[in-house]
Amino acid sequence: MWLLWRKQRWEPQFNHRHGFQAIRRTSYLSIMDLPIAPGSTILDQTPPEARRTIETWVAERGLPRYRAGQIIQRLWQHPMASWDAATELPAPLRGLLTETFPLPRLTADVIQRSSDGTRKYLWRLADGEAIESVMIPTGSRRTLCISSQSGCALGCVFCATGTMGFRRNLSASEIAGQVRELILEDAAAKPTNIVFMGMGEPLLNWPAVDRTLTILNHPNGFGIGARHITLSTVGILPGIEALAKRPEQFRLAISLHAPTKDQRRALMPIEKKYDLDAVMRAARAFARRVTFEYVLIAGKNDADADADRLAKMARPLGALVNLLPLHPGGDPQLMPSNAGRIRAFADRLRNQGIEAVVRRSRGLDISAACGQLTVEVDGKRRRFSPAAFDAAVGRSEDPTATSQPAAVPLSRSTSRAAPRRRVRSR
Ligand code: SAH
Ligand code: SF4
Repeated sequence: MWLLWRKQRWEPQFNHRHGFQAIRRTSYLSIMDLPIAPGSTILDQTPPEARRTIETWVAERGLPRYRAGQIIQRLWQHPMASWDAATELPAPLRGLLTETFPLPRLTADVIQRSSDGTRKYLWRLADGEAIESVMIPTGSRRTLCISSQSGCALGCVFCATGTMGFRRNLSASEIAGQVRELILEDAAAKPTNIVFMGMGEPLLNWPAVDRTLTILNHPNGFGIGARHITLSTVGILPGIEALAKRPEQFRLAISLHAPTKDQRRALMPIEKKYDLDAVMRAARAFARRVTFEYVLIAGKNDADADADRLAKMARPLGALVNLLPLHPGGDPQLMPSNAGRIRAFADRLRNQGIEAVVRRSRGLDISAACGQLTVEVDGKRRRFSPAAFDAAVGRSEDPTATSQPAAVPLSRSTSRAAPRRRVRSR
């Protein structure tokens, strides 16, 4: 036993005859007693880890074992805003839980509602950083697009998040917290599908994303089917390998965006590190069917010849191609392909046997491309930083490495502008 220090205090103790009584308790605090690593919370643990933590804690306090089950349900399955709301638990126990297992929340700084039903959230984190989620309802499906980092080091020229630079990695509780907050808002409107297509590159935050996948999918977590959870990446190869090793059927989307190395390099600096050939090899090696994401930018990647090359790449893999109309927020000189060109590009793919879907632009009136809202509200716009890029992908090949690019300080605007409504017509 790793003894750390002796602690003595009054604690409620459950007694079958008298219920809860205050008793003076002396105990030796051990590593095992420290339920969570410093700086993290019970919501950073995976459901199996949290179960062990809570069961040990309940047993140490002489509480009936069924209390552990009740407590665990309240983490993700039937979440509540604070332990006070868990009225099935006795009040002294709720007090003790509040003290021992604080439940971190994300603060909704801005919520925008689009005329098409899309809702966009700008969450403020405990340290003032901002992240975004977008809820996209389509029929009975409610897809939540979540962020895995605040900002992004990879600087794709068309992306609003890319213009912010990298701020920091999110913890598992902050990533899964985006789902938890929506369930707290309306349990009946729990997301049915999750896409890691918000801010950040999830495979450059693998340790937290790995845990989040478990929290999203586990029956004692949010219980969302693995096939309904899609991780989108520019093609961080060690991360793709790590994802492939997970036994669940999580889906992989690869942001291709160009059919040649030169075109891709002009849009995505990551091409220098993991080039198109290597990304295609990783896509072929991935056990399950992949999706290619392809943002259509006028004059850059939307020619018939580009469609033909893309078809040649997608066909042997049976890959689905998602065609994304360009949202504003990245380089203002880039223009979206017009509707006719998008249709022609999609038809050309389909005529060559490719399953191609043109994603409808949702929430264009509410800055719904991830990163756009943060740039508007916080004025966080700075150029791509090669140093942050190198720190993110240049040195470590190991996705489980925890070293992260240094967050470059920004002069944060003090005024939080009211959300602007922007409507684009095309
Ligand atoms: N970093 C990951 C996941 C977040 S971005 C990735 O890049 O895949 C999620 C998707 O949104 C990516 O396919 C990305 O290319 C796309 N995207 C970024 N900016 C966009 C824009 N301005 N218009 C349309 N799609 C965009
Ligand atoms: Fe980062 Fe993805 Fe945006 Fe590229 S598209 S800058 S990888 S968030």
